[in-house]
Amino acid sequence: MKKNNLKILLYHGVTDHKNRGVQNYSGKHVHVNEFYKQMNFIKKNCNVLSIDQVPSIIKKKNFLKNSVVVSFDDGFENNYKIAVPILKKFSIPAVFYITAGMIGKKKMFWVDQIEDLINLTKKKEFFLKLSRKLNFSIKNKKEKIIAINKIKKFCKKNSKLNKEKILKNLKKILNDVQPNINHSKNYKSMSWNQLKKISKNSLFTIGGHSYNHNIFSKMTNKDMKKEITKSINLLSKKLNLNIKHYAYPEGQKGDFNIATIKFLKSKKIICCPTAIHGDNPVNTNLFYLKRIMVGFEKNKFPFNGYLT
Ligand SMILES: [Zn+2]
Repeated sequence: MKKNNLKILLYHGVTDHKNRGVQNYSGKHVHVNEFYKQMNFIKKNCNVLSIDQVPSIIKKKNFLKNSVVVSFDDGFENNYKIAVPILKKFSIPAVFYITAGMIGKKKMFWVDQIEDLINLTKKKEFFLKLSRKLNFSIKNKKEKIIAINKIKKFCKKNSKLNKEKILKNLKKILNDVQPNINHSKNYKSMSWNQLKKISKNSLFTIGGHSYNHNIFSKMTNKDMKKEITKSINLLSKKLNLNIKHYAYPEGQKGDFNIATIKFLKSKKIICCPTAIHGDNPVNTNLFYLKRIMVGFEKNKFPFNGYLT
């Protein structure tokens, strides 16, 4: 990490309650006290930018020292309830990349469904066919985390259809429990009203993040275009906004391709960061910007001198 490179922080959620079992084991939702300290730190020590400023300044010779952008992916309700009041308190701009098809619905992200099933089942082991039939021992937290990670990883590498089949099978096998959005506050997405309130605040920017969080490169081009179009249309209509920003679902290398970028540009998207770990020197292509997933899998808050 270099002082003069632009850092884009990537958060999914901010949480204020205790977890049951392996809930939030990945650190996807940062604890509210930690988030408060981080925002306080960047307000005092960094050059905080809005994502809207990035396209025009990325071509300049240098970024100001410690330039940073705050971003949120997916549209969880805790963004509205917990993160937004803190961002407002410090006047920190942020961009919210929204999975449009989840807003206002009682739907759970597929990764959270896998976590919830394996977390709450009373079963001690199960068999599941991934590339071949595997035996998963889930006697304790550690084994549960290994199982969740293995299944998630396999699903992310496979097509949408395959992923849905695996999730369906898993529900059948672990049938003593049903994934339920009420099992954790962190599973809930925002309502349209909550999102509308965020979008009306000039500190905040709304961007797209697919319709159903399916990985673009694992779909046919036709489906990818449908998913992008549907998400942009819904957000523009419901929020009465021009959507100019986007973030790829999953966003790792191989989760998007040239066709994705070409299509996003045809939809007037001007900037689309990845979730690839790193910071950004000047002149980085706006469709390949790297980000830092703070807290996720123990990724550190990227500023020197920050003590937790
Ligand atoms: Zn996402």
